[in-house]
Amino acid sequence: MQGQIAVMMAPGQLAFQDYPVPDPAPGALVVRVLRSNVCGSEIHIWCGHHPTKRSGGLGHEAVGIIEKLGAGVTTDHAGTPVHEGDRVVATYFIHCRRCPPCQRGQVHLCDNAYTYWGRQPADDPHFHATFATHWYIHSAQMFYKVPDAVSDRAAASANCAQSQVYFGLELGQARLGDRIVIQGAGGLGLNAAAIAREMGAEVIVIDAVAARLAEAKCFGAHHVIDMNAYPTVEDRVAVVAQLTGGGADLCLEVAGVVDAYPEAIRLLRPGGMLVAMGIVNPGKTVPFDPGYAVRRGISTIATVRYPGAYLKKSLDFLVRYAARYPFDSLLDRDYPLDQILQALDDSAARRVTRASIVMPGAR
Ligand SMILES: [Zn+2]
Ligand SMILES: [Zn+2]
Repeated sequence: MQGQIAVMMAPGQLAFQDYPVPDPAPGALVVRVLRSNVCGSEIHIWCGHHPTKRSGGLGHEAVGIIEKLGAGVTTDHAGTPVHEGDRVVATYFIHCRRCPPCQRGQVHLCDNAYTYWGRQPADDPHFHATFATHWYIHSAQMFYKVPDAVSDRAAASANCAQSQVYFGLELGQARLGDRIVIQGAGGLGLNAAAIAREMGAEVIVIDAVAARLAEAKCFGAHHVIDMNAYPTVEDRVAVVAQLTGGGADLCLEVAGVVDAYPEAIRLLRPGGMLVAMGIVNPGKTVPFDPGYAVRRGISTIATVRYPGAYLKKSLDFLVRYAARYPFDSLLDRDYPLDQILQALDDSAARRVTRASIVMPGAR
């Protein structure tokens, strides 16, 4: 049987390639993709802004259905039995367990995270990325069965934004009653608002787009701050101080703009914690006042990705709380695989917020 992969030949140039659907090696599995979202990081690669990735397969936020199980695969990574035909989600990266970060237990920082995801489609077993009919899940990737109660739409986003912010909030030691500021109401920020709310925090979301702030309220924000109404850093420091009684306990930076970082330091109470995860591209700098941070005892943690087990925690979160939040509306337009060029261009031009590629059989 042949499968098809959308391949970026160079930034902005797309082709389709057909390859035989491989048989999974022992410990691996092959899934038929049901739905795969166009993530902000894909747009970045597509537009040629990524420091290293200039060609190859795209797509990493996906849910699929097991087509073939490799020898020895009887359960997912949480011990739930799996069979051909079950829906699953998987991490798009690996924890190699052998590099220095893995050896120190910081598996989310694995030096070899993109061993498979970064490969070219011509390399066997071809289906390394999810803008494709199939996805090959290696034994080093963690995968989980999707509970029946979780929709394809909600599940497809779980392995990126949701698991990342869940981990970020726990890394920042978010606690019941904390006052948490979330900078940015994109996919990361909206997921973070819902999780922080269910952790028992008071949630404040800052963004400059009114429609996103309205969504943030639907995703659990108690307060939203429109940057158009509070245009300066001083304005926002003052309003956050007033809402929190002197500064936030925790600030989650998921805005992706460098100015958010020094601003976050000023939004925190003495002893507060910044978790930075949105600014993922090196090279842009910004003035920063270390003395202010030291005198106030502000801590910062920066992080990328997540330990794979957070994908299971995200699915559990969705089972318990998805009905309270409009997760299905996070994806605002569906495209078939053969219109992926349109989906990428519409996303890059911001004509859609979150495009999703749907395959036959998706719900
Ligand atoms: Zn993503
Ligand atoms: Zn590693």
